[in-house]
Amino acid sequence: MSDSPDIFGSQEPDGEQAKPSAAELEAAGQSALFGDPIAPTVAAPEAPPSELAPVVKAPVKAPATTQPYRVLARKYRPQTFGELIGQDAMVQTLANAIRRDRLAHAFLMTGVRGVGKTSTARLIAKALNCIGPDGTGGPTIDPCGVCEPCRAIAEGRHIDVIEMDAASHTGVDDVREIIEAVRYAAVSARYKIYIIDEVHMLSRNAFNALLKTLEEPPAHVKFLFATTEVDKLPVTVLSRCQRFDLRRITAPMLVENFSMICRNEGVEADPEALAIIASAAEGSARDGQSILDQAIAHADMASEGEGTHVTAEQVRDMLGLADKGVQRKLLAALLAGNGSELLDVVDRQYALGVEPIALMRGQMELVHRIALCQLGKGEAQGPSAEEREAIADWAAKLGAAQVHRLWQLLLKGHDEVRTAPEPIVAAQMALLRVMHAADMPDPGALVRKLDEIAARPELAGQPIAGQSGPDAAASQGASPARSDAIAGHAHAGPPPSWETLIAQVEAAGQLRVGQVMSDWIRVIDLAPGHLRYQLAPGYKEDVGPELRDALYRATGERWQIERGGADQDGTPTIAERRKAEAEAEADIVRNSPMVKAAMDAFPDARLLEHGGEKDIRRA
Ligand SMILES: [Zn+2]
Repeated sequence: MSDSPDIFGSQEPDGEQAKPSAAELEAAGQSALFGDPIAPTVAAPEAPPSELAPVVKAPVKAPATTQPYRVLARKYRPQTFGELIGQDAMVQTLANAIRRDRLAHAFLMTGVRGVGKTSTARLIAKALNCIGPDGTGGPTIDPCGVCEPCRAIAEGRHIDVIEMDAASHTGVDDVREIIEAVRYAAVSARYKIYIIDEVHMLSRNAFNALLKTLEEPPAHVKFLFATTEVDKLPVTVLSRCQRFDLRRITAPMLVENFSMICRNEGVEADPEALAIIASAAEGSARDGQSILDQAIAHADMASEGEGTHVTAEQVRDMLGLADKGVQRKLLAALLAGNGSELLDVVDRQYALGVEPIALMRGQMELVHRIALCQLGKGEAQGPSAEEREAIADWAAKLGAAQVHRLWQLLLKGHDEVRTAPEPIVAAQMALLRVMHAADMPDPGALVRKLDEIAARPELAGQPIAGQSGPDAAASQGASPARSDAIAGHAHAGPPPSWETLIAQVEAAGQLRVGQVMSDWIRVIDLAPGHLRYQLAPGYKEDVGPELRDALYRATGERWQIERGGADQDGTPTIAERRKAEAEAEADIVRNSPMVKAAMDAFPDARLLEHGGEKDIRRA
């Protein structure tokens, strides 16, 4: 596969074994030809060829010190299908095809980097060309490994097995060479085999040139393609290949593989250390083995001649990962709303060299596990008992909606930390924001709470009265004091309410006057048979006579209508009051602690009225 040069290529050599050159370390990650010219297959773990079990029997001894050092990914490259981890389905299919002699002319191996695509291609080459120890065998799923073709292929010197990396040979000329050579029979083997790695890198012309041969390949030719990006292949090529999708290797399988390697290498390793490496490898055996290599080198340096022991702590340090325990502490502080503890944890981790982005990722991973656990899927995932316990505990305590909000807030924070000029500051702010918003009720609960606020009269009423000032009382009709003062002057009886009067006027069919009364008239004094008023700015007509007439018709009484002086401020009109009420209402909502928290958490959020002001008031 077209592996990028190994990031761990600068590995420190250990003292006892021969030092690996930088070139060799790098080559381990590269699609080098088979085997190793320096030390041929001797060091390869030997498994009985017929065994399909994933774990390999191998001497439980450290390699002899005379052997040159070989990176693990290369040393443990599978030599039989049995050693290929996690691809049982594919091996089964292939075994069936070989047994029934129904082999396609072209195979396509797909899958993420490091799952064993090239290894599989080489194994297939062996399987097809093996002649068995006695030289009479046919194609087999269990290549013997001892016959001349097997050994030559393993050592990368078989003349009829041609490997090409399409990443560096994309042109039509490269393909043409192949096509020319295809015509000639295999020199010494049963099949002439072309392994083309990263085949999606071929140019369109190169594909077209290849297509003709793919359509009618000579019987002695097999093509083995490998690719990480199968969608980039032309469908004309896809349709001519038998396709094998190699699976991402699961973490438990990787752990098993790593412990086997550790046993063989005479290295002790914490189970948690291997679990961390498996998780960092993301399904790639080779990436995982490279990390393990590095971890063993670190442990060697630390051991000072004692037995090598790979600890979880070393691996975390090496990978710049936050300690799981610390991650749980951080989440606990966050959920408990303990901001100072939260900042302490973040600062300590930063001082230890943990990247802020790793902290965010760690939190997201925890939340993800909690979500899985809530669905009964995640129990077995935690590497340690403490972690499993903590996750189960959170899964029981947190609501599903809360977990999802946590995830969203963390995801947003993660993006901010990634792009921020000062990631540590961004991480602190993001985590604090998550903390403040973490215990917010979900939207459903929020709506119920708003309804509650709106329904509580003391809350709904207060600020409105406060806004209208001392005149508010007049809006309810007239203040007792005022009605007393006026009572002596004309009619006795209860003081009329302005709203009632408007209703009466409208009921008498004088809708226009009613409209004017509610929209434009600011009442200064109101008593039975007496009205002193101001007009709201903007209304120019003299409403006096019309008003007198309308009130007479509506109440059957003569009214004394008087326009107040410019210095007298009336009670705001009904329309003005409604507007003020709606604003006050929105203020209550805005100032309620919950909504404030929501606004802080989502700075871009806006408060929308649902169904207009009346709905908010009377919900
Ligand atoms: Zn063989």
